[in-house]
Amino acid sequence: MEKRDYYEVLGVSKEATKEEIKKAYRKQALKYHPDKNPGDKVAEEKFKEAASAYEVLSNDDKRARYDRFGHAGVSGGGGNGFGGSGMTMEDIFSSFGDIFGDAFGGFAGFGSARRGGGRRVNKGSNLRVKVKLDLQEISAGVEKKIRVNKYVSCSACNGTGAADANSMTTCATCHGSGHVTRIANTLLGQMQTTSVCPTCNGEGKTITKKCPVCYGEGIVQKEEIIKINIPAGVARGMQMNVEGKGNAARRGGINGDLLVVIDEQDHPDLIREGNDLIYNLFISIPDSILGTNVEVPTVENKVKIRIEPGTQPGKILRLRGKGLPEVNGYGRGDLLVNVNVWIPKSISREESKIIEKFKDSDSFIPKPDKDDKGFFERMRGYFQ
Ligand SMILES: [Zn+2]
Ligand SMILES: [Zn+2]
Repeated sequence: MEKRDYYEVLGVSKEATKEEIKKAYRKQALKYHPDKNPGDKVAEEKFKEAASAYEVLSNDDKRARYDRFGHAGVSGGGGNGFGGSGMTMEDIFSSFGDIFGDAFGGFAGFGSARRGGGRRVNKGSNLRVKVKLDLQEISAGVEKKIRVNKYVSCSACNGTGAADANSMTTCATCHGSGHVTRIANTLLGQMQTTSVCPTCNGEGKTITKKCPVCYGEGIVQKEEIIKINIPAGVARGMQMNVEGKGNAARRGGINGDLLVVIDEQDHPDLIREGNDLIYNLFISIPDSILGTNVEVPTVENKVKIRIEPGTQPGKILRLRGKGLPEVNGYGRGDLLVNVNVWIPKSISREESKIIEKFKDSDSFIPKPDKDDKGFFERMRGYFQ
């Protein structure tokens, strides 16, 4: 893939100051941060792209080389492990993690977040629900109310788990810091190790009297109805992430997320293929010979189409823009009408006599048109 201009990636001018570059990078990094976009590969690429740009533009020497020689001046032989696209998430966090400040709880990575002073903050578990949508809902986008049974913060103790304000004290082991530091004497001199406080599990506080409602957990089970907006164009198997709507964490932490997995209800007449829709149309032999106007269904309503005289079975008519919308984007797929000609399975004696008359008629002898694309179009994968 063609590499984008680093100034363009960060949205700054070529004359941008270091401070402006830092600010611009911070903005990008927060926007595409993996905690905000879990499982989103596009966001991950953007996140990496911004980091690569910042890595170069924040360094005077590299920036000067980039200004003179472009990407060629800073790629390859980097030696620091950043080859641009070779940058891993861990590289980015360890190099530029400080840029996020407290925005993501100080950046302990994914899952359990840490906040100032090293005190650990619990994160509630994610909830996963499946939502079944019909094509109409997928075509227009829809607001769904989902009933979930989940853990919510205990209202009796405000999620603290303590019976009252007096029954919560600063942890005596770590004095509220959440971690303990040990100094060990080794052959190489004194070694200092820091670990999570075993008394309070890193929370910095201990409870002397538990809340009677939640038994000290800070969370209780409750049924909740969550409204979610599902954008148009989603497809079976896609997952949406609703931040903070998952389970509450024990004793006042960060809520988990609600993961909404999309399922699809089959349409009685239309088959979905990506953003295209396929309709299998049957016309009669006379109509295929003489031509006709027919109505075909779309997701929303119906559209009239013309069948030209002499239309062969297997012909595909493409109705542009009558398919499903692109998810999070512009444009729509097409409606493909596959034309079949209905051959009667039994006919009357009288009909039989009429058909017999055509047997030796020259017009009825097959003369396949080598340029007829219908068959080849199908073979090329419309109906894979
Ligand atoms: Zn402690
Ligand atoms: Zn409680």
